[in-house]
Amino acid sequence: MTRDPRYDILFEPVKIGPVTARNRFYQVPHCNGMGYRDVSALAAMRATKAAGGWAVVATEMVEIHHTADVSPFVEGRLWSDQDIPAHARVAAAIKEKGALAAIELCHSGYTAVNLWSREVPLSPSARPAASFFQDPVQARAMDLSDIRTLRAAHRAAALRAKRAGYDLIYVYAGHGLGIFQQFLSRATNQRSDDYGGSLANRARLLREVIEDTKDAVGDRCAVPVRIAMHEFAGAEGLSPAEVEDAIGLMAELPDLWDLSLSGWSMDSQTSRFAEEGFQEPYIKGVKRLTTRPVVGVGRYTSPDAMVRVIRQGIMDMIGAARPSIADPYLPKKIEDGRLDDIRECIGCNICVTHDFSSTPLRCTQNPSMGEEWRRGWHPELIRPKEADGHILVVGAGPAGLEAARALGQRGYTVSLADRAQEAGGRVARECRLPGLAAWGRVKDWRLGQIAKLPHVSLYLDSAMTAENSAEVGADHIVLATGASWRRDGVGRHHSRPLTIADGALVLTPDDVMAGSLPAAGPVTLFDDDHYYLGGVLAELLVKKGLAVRLVTPSSLVSFFTRQSLEQARIQKRLLELGVEVIANTAVTAIAPDHVTLACVFTGRERLLETAATLLVTARTPNDALAAPLRAAGLAVSVIGDAFGPATIAAAVHAGRRLAEDFGRPKDPLSLPFRRETTGLDPAPV
Ligand code: ADP
Ligand code: SF4
Repeated sequence: MTRDPRYDILFEPVKIGPVTARNRFYQVPHCNGMGYRDVSALAAMRATKAAGGWAVVATEMVEIHHTADVSPFVEGRLWSDQDIPAHARVAAAIKEKGALAAIELCHSGYTAVNLWSREVPLSPSARPAASFFQDPVQARAMDLSDIRTLRAAHRAAALRAKRAGYDLIYVYAGHGLGIFQQFLSRATNQRSDDYGGSLANRARLLREVIEDTKDAVGDRCAVPVRIAMHEFAGAEGLSPAEVEDAIGLMAELPDLWDLSLSGWSMDSQTSRFAEEGFQEPYIKGVKRLTTRPVVGVGRYTSPDAMVRVIRQGIMDMIGAARPSIADPYLPKKIEDGRLDDIRECIGCNICVTHDFSSTPLRCTQNPSMGEEWRRGWHPELIRPKEADGHILVVGAGPAGLEAARALGQRGYTVSLADRAQEAGGRVARECRLPGLAAWGRVKDWRLGQIAKLPHVSLYLDSAMTAENSAEVGADHIVLATGASWRRDGVGRHHSRPLTIADGALVLTPDDVMAGSLPAAGPVTLFDDDHYYLGGVLAELLVKKGLAVRLVTPSSLVSFFTRQSLEQARIQKRLLELGVEVIANTAVTAIAPDHVTLACVFTGRERLLETAATLLVTARTPNDALAAPLRAAGLAVSVIGDAFGPATIAAAVHAGRRLAEDFGRPKDPLSLPFRRETTGLDPAPV
C-alpha cells in the first residue's frame, strides 16, 4: 500500500539549522526509567523508533553536571568524558536507522536534589529543593561565579554530546525542570542583578547559553530550545504572553523551538483529563514570531489532526513522546497507508509511572516497549512458529487478546473463547467509565489485528468449562480468565475479612460495572486499591445522583496516580463533585445502615451512616479451570489477571510473553531477559 496524498505534507523534509529531518515526525525527549543504567536497552528502544520512521529521535533529559543530579531517578548522564561511550551507543543506534539523534542537555536547578553527588542544590533564588519525596534540602541562590560555572558546564556537555555523535543538542527550559526556565520565571527568580527583574534580564541566561551552545557545536549540530509556554503558577508564573515576549527576544537564535507546558503533569496529561491536541491554545502564537521550525505535542495519533496543525500554521513538526511509545512505527504506517494498524496511545501514563519507579519504561498498548534489547521483542515482528499447533485461549480480555493476536502472528491456529457477548474483558467494562473511553483502544486495536489473521477465531458467548475446553482438542490451553473483585474487604489494609452484618448492602466494582447500583445513598466507597478505579467509581456514582464518601487508608485519593501525574486532578475533581474524602481511615465493619471507621494511626473508631458500601480493595484470580484441566493431563498456562492481578499493561505484556515464549524450553532458574552490569573501575578497592 502507499500513502494517501493527503498526508504527503507530513513527509516533507524540514531543515533544522545545519541538519535536515527526513519528515515532520519528531520524537521529543522523554524519560524512560533506563537512562544511564540500562544503556543498551535504551539504545535499542530509541533505534526502534528511528526504524519506525521518526525523523528526529531524542534522549530523555541528560544531566550535564554533578550539580544536576536528579537521583533517585535514572535519567541520562553526561557529567564527564566517562559518559561519552554510553551516549555514542545511543546516538549511533538512532542514526543507523536513518533518524537524527537529539540529546536534551539538562540542569534541573532546584529540582536536582543531588542526593548522589551530595552537592548543595542550585537555584536562581534561595528556596527549598523541589522533590517527589519532599527531601529536607534547600537550594542556594547562585552567584555570578556559579552562573559562569553553569555556562561552562553546559558548553562542556554540548561538546561531549557532539563527540558522542548527536545531531541536535538541546538547551532545556521546560517542565520546571530546566534551570533556564527557573531563571525566566518571576515565580522562581527574585534576583536583583543582571539575571533578575526585567524579562530581558530573566531571559539573559537562556540567551547566553543558546549562544554558547551554538558557538560550541553549531557548525555541525542543530541547537533546539525546549521551552515551557505556561507554568500554571498564578500571576507570577510564566504564561503564553510573557513566554512569547521572551521568544521574541531571541526568535532566530536557536535552530528550532520545541514547545511544551509546565510542569510535567500539565504537559503529559492523561486522556481522562485532556483530548488530543490539548496544547494548541498555548502554542499557536509562536510560529508568527520566528522563522525557525516549531515543534509541539498533544498526544497526536491521528494523521488528519497532524495535517491540520501543520496547515493551520500551529507547528512545523509533530512532536510526540507517548504516541511514539505506543507505536514506534506510527510514521511508517502512515507512509505505507496502513492507518488501521496504528496502535494508538490510550493516554494512561503507565509509561510515566516507570520513570517515577526508575524501572524500564513500559506501555499498556505496546508490550515490546523497553523489551527491544532485554528480550529481543519488536513492536511489529515476531518469530514464526517452529511447529504447528492449535491453542485454545480462554478469556478475551487484554491478556487473552494479546496472546491470541501474537500467537496468530506467529502462525499458530488459535481459538479465542469468551463467555461475554463482547470481547475486551475488563477493558470493555472500564472504558465505559467516566473519562476512560480511550482505553477501549486496547481491545479495538487487537480485535482489528485478529480480524486479519486467518487462523485466529474468536468465539463470544462461549462459557468454557473443564469439559468443553478439553473437547476443543487443542495442544495447549491458555487461561486468561481475569480476576474478580473481592467482596470481603481483604486488601492492603485488612488481611482478614471484615465483619459484614447480614442485610448490609455490599458491592464490588464488578457489580457497579455490570450496572448494579444502590437505589439510594449515601454510599461508602472503601478504596484500598489506591489506583484509578476507586476515584473513577466515585465519580460515576455521583453522576448517578448518589452521595459518596470515599474512605481510604492513604493520605490521598488514588495515591498511586501521583506517578501517572493525575493525583491532584483526581482529588480536585472529586472534591468539586462533592465527594466527601475521608483519608487516613479504614472501614473496619459494615452494618445495614452504617459502617465503622477507624483512624489508621490511632485506631480511634467512629460510626458513619451508610446505605451501601462499595469495596475497592483487591481481586481474586479466576483460575479455577487450571486444576481440573491439568488433572486431565492437558498442557495449561495461566496468564494476566488470572495469574497475578495487576495493570492492563501487565496483562497485555503477559499475553505477549506467552506468545513469545511458546515452544521455547522453560528454565525457571535462568534469567528471562538480558541486563547490563556496570564495568568495574580498574582502581583498587
Ligand atoms: P486480563 O486483564 O487478564 O486480560 P480480564 O478480566 O480483562 O483479564 O478478562 C478475562 C476475560 O475472561 C473476561 O472477558 C471473561 O469474560 C473471560 N472469562 C473468564 N472465565 C471464563 C470462562 N470460564 N469461559 C470463557 N470466558 C471466561
Ligand atoms: Fe500511551 Fe499509556 Fe502507552 Fe504511555 S503507557 S504511551 S500513555 S498507552
